Amino acid sequence: MKYERVRNFINGSFKDVASQRTLPVISPTDGSLLAEMPCSTAADVADAVQAAKAAFPKWSKTPIKERVQVFFRYKYLLEQYLQELAELISEENGKTMSEAIAEVEKCIELTEFATSLPQLISGEVLEVSAGVECRTAHVPLGVVASIVPFNFPAMVPNWTIPNAIALGNCMIIKPSEKVPLSLGVLARLLKEAGLPDGVLNIVNGDSEVVNAICDHPDIEAVSFVGSTKVAKIVYQRATQTLKRCLALGGAKNHLVVLPDAKPGMTAQNVAASMSGCAGQRCMAASAMIGVGEVDHIIDLVCEEVKKIIPGQNLGAVISKESKERIEKYITEAEAQGAKILVDGRGAKVSGKENGTYVGPTVIDHVTADMAVAKEEIFGPVISIMRTNTVDEALVIENANPYGNAASVFTQNGGMARYIAERASAGMIGVNVGVPVPREPFSFGGWNESKFGVGDITGRSSIEFWTKLKKSTTKWNPEEGVNWMS
Ligand code: NAD
Repeated sequence: MKYERVRNFINGSFKDVASQRTLPVISPTDGSLLAEMPCSTAADVADAVQAAKAAFPKWSKTPIKERVQVFFRYKYLLEQYLQELAELISEENGKTMSEAIAEVEKCIELTEFATSLPQLISGEVLEVSAGVECRTAHVPLGVVASIVPFNFPAMVPNWTIPNAIALGNCMIIKPSEKVPLSLGVLARLLKEAGLPDGVLNIVNGDSEVVNAICDHPDIEAVSFVGSTKVAKIVYQRATQTLKRCLALGGAKNHLVVLPDAKPGMTAQNVAASMSGCAGQRCMAASAMIGVGEVDHIIDLVCEEVKKIIPGQNLGAVISKESKERIEKYITEAEAQGAKILVDGRGAKVSGKENGTYVGPTVIDHVTADMAVAKEEIFGPVISIMRTNTVDEALVIENANPYGNAASVFTQNGGMARYIAERASAGMIGVNVGVPVPREPFSFGGWNESKFGVGDITGRSSIEFWTKLKKSTTKWNPEEGVNWMS
């Protein structure tokens, strides 16, 4: 085994986990066993909460301008260890090195945003009547939790760690059991950056840890990122114990392509969006709706997709089960009459025969009732549907239960606006295949792609990680002056 047994990070130190129940951490790139990951129990969650609770009074009273100094140092450490971290991300998740480097660069951008929080959270003061002032302050919640998925082992943790902690909270974070290694490096760097013990705690495990987090009475808020199925479970369970919860779920993102779209640029965007991170992005294009005559663009999409080679510029999917599931979707669509224009089934990478690769796949003549049109595939597959009108395309887009992202490709501004206004998604792209809003804009979908109020990153995260204190003050000595005067 390449790495030692995964340990929790509690109160500033890496700790062995007593549980003998373990799961293997397998590299999708070659199927090798990287590490053994112990499944922590509710008792381990309780230890982490105790450490976070003990750290909270001092950390929350530390002025925010001082708290963010940790994140200035952390940002420099991320830059310094970019290569090491990217190699680990690529190894445990299966994405390519250039994707892993981009992931660390995104962690840096997220951290930069956190360092701007002192400027953003200054409250408001107003003299509401003669000599009487009202003011607001953003107050940290206490111990909070973050539960993250496998597809971005470093970026998604950095959606929550810098903002929640810079805002004065202490955190328990649970990585995906499939990719627990990168988060250990992040904890090491945060400690080196001067984060006090107990402010960040990692508890490794599976659903038992998630349930214990949702149930723990001393955790004030839970953020979750993962599949819609689990997002619903977590949202219901966490709010059952009256916690604040924001649970981001899965996605089925549609690209609407109009005949006047710039062919080359559109094809490159479609190909990059459906295949980046092997399609395992909640912002990946999963369905393309061609409106009218777009065969010339579909031909170019296929040309672009054929340049994407497993093991070279296309990473592996996370597991054998994932590969089987994705290939089953393609086979089912074919059996139902769809046409496979580029077939990624059975992909093999020489020298990495045990890697779990699926080649990029283009499925044409998909109908709206097929599973590949409706369900999240989470692989490098694009399902092409065709309509005669933009309104028919919008009916398909609006009917899907998710609502993370939708994009339109056209040179007609009025049409772009018409579609952007009517697509039922939280993040819209116009001639952009992966419309992730960059900081300071916030990230979050609609419908079954998100449960709870607000977004997880950017300015919107301030509302989630803090509560408002409203104070009314009168110092003037006159009698008869009150807050209504
Ligand atoms: P997942 O839902 O299987 O797992 C996410 C987390 O939940 C993990 O930490 C896992 O241990 C835990 N978990 C799994 N099953 C559980 C259960 N039954 N009860 C309690 N906890 C459980 O998701 P994944 O496979 O790791 O990630 C892929 C999914 O995440 C995709 O659906 C993708 O769209 C979604 N995702 C969404 C966003 C977004 O911003 N909306 C971002 C990234 C990924």
